[in-house]
Amino acid sequence: MLLMKSCTKATTAWLNTEEYKELNFAREKLVINPAKACQPLGALLCALGVEGCLPFTHGSQGCTAYFRSTLSRHFREPVASVSDSMTEDSAVFGGQTNLIEGLKNAHALYKPKVIAVYTSCMAEVIGDDIKAYLGNAKQADAIPQEFPVALANTPSFKGSHITGYDTMLKGLIECLATPRQADKINDRLYVVPGFDTYTANLREYKRILKLMKAPFTLLPDNSDVFDAPNLGTYQLYPGGTPLTEMNDALNAAQYLFLQTFSSPTTSKYLASLDVPVETISMPMGIAGMDKFVESVAKFTGEGVPEEITFERGLAIDAMTDSHQYIHGKKFALFGDPDLLIGLVTFLLEMGGLPVHIVCTNSTPTFKKAMESLLASSPYGQEATLYAGKDLWHLRSLLVTEPVDMLLGDSHGKWAARDANIPLVRIGFPITDRVNIHRSPIIGYSGVINLITMIVNTFLDEVDRNSTEAHFEMMR
Ligand code: SF4
Repeated sequence: MLLMKSCTKATTAWLNTEEYKELNFAREKLVINPAKACQPLGALLCALGVEGCLPFTHGSQGCTAYFRSTLSRHFREPVASVSDSMTEDSAVFGGQTNLIEGLKNAHALYKPKVIAVYTSCMAEVIGDDIKAYLGNAKQADAIPQEFPVALANTPSFKGSHITGYDTMLKGLIECLATPRQADKINDRLYVVPGFDTYTANLREYKRILKLMKAPFTLLPDNSDVFDAPNLGTYQLYPGGTPLTEMNDALNAAQYLFLQTFSSPTTSKYLASLDVPVETISMPMGIAGMDKFVESVAKFTGEGVPEEITFERGLAIDAMTDSHQYIHGKKFALFGDPDLLIGLVTFLLEMGGLPVHIVCTNSTPTFKKAMESLLASSPYGQEATLYAGKDLWHLRSLLVTEPVDMLLGDSHGKWAARDANIPLVRIGFPITDRVNIHRSPIIGYSGVINLITMIVNTFLDEVDRNSTEAHFEMMR
């Protein structure tokens, strides 16, 4: 922003040229505004989805302040989390003293049922051995021997928030679940939503699973933590996956992962223990949700209830009513791999044209999946996936190869303004609009909500820019 303000007109104009775009895309060592957060933020989000769990950053206070403020600004809820406040002396002598003292205080003051410890960059750079430190903390009676502490190494100089989510989830299962035993397999479908910052998505999963009469556990489930009712008293540990169901997590009848790229480590770990695992794409668009319904119906062995068929029909009707506003429109998108696959699935179903797709935390597997999805539709032919690129690259793309709309989180608002196109806020974080996380973007109702957000934004633009003669009641 400051840079842009201080630019002369000529420089600003030059930033919008093909020449600058080429230079921008030639940069190798510098990242400007990446569309990703760091690993511990994902670990914290995951840990808050377990009953009575206190997230604990082994690292500096500043890191924890960043995770908490980002999540608080997105959800507009308090975010309970502590840190052991490593400073310069810990960087020299190691963070064991901080961890032991921190665990003792956190256990005594906040009375959690479980503590989830994850690391920040500083602890990883100096090579702190958190497993050994935890053993020493118990030896020193800082916390009781049997008290559960889940561990996750989450160095942020690699991976992103989705990697941290995955590592913490595996750590929580390793810590809390009893070993799988053939004669103790339960009847439950353990459903893993993945890194999802829409509390309404989690509630929608639970509603559909109940409708389909599937015995299930949502793991983790932070819907009541990040969208708590205001009843006059503050609860430090609202909701979360019950600890009894965490204890039985390895005896699950089956796991259903609802994101492909945010939990591969956990799914591989479970598969290695002979736990049946199925992974599907985030259930967005009609095809995405059909797959979810099909997987749950296969698990229950029952047919699809009429209510679900009815809801699907409502979504198809909404698509038919409004496809003309999206068909042929050009879109740029940025965000996490799973969200991008879901959004592109939806756009292709509506005849929208994804053109620029920026994914900072892309992987080769994601690239392959996205390219195959784009190749499957005539509407995907104009698209290019910019793997590993950032929002400054995206800005160059928007000003040199214009599109009609940008889909992404609040960080995209500057690029959208520079390109004079609307931004529909989808993803994380959304810090400059309210309540977006309270409406689902998954499921058949998610299809209707996406249509409403996108089409009404286009129509607002038409009204805002119309001449007097074309300012119509009907659009
Ligand atoms: S990138 Fe590293 S130093 Fe920065 S907030 Fe994340 S953990 Fe802390």
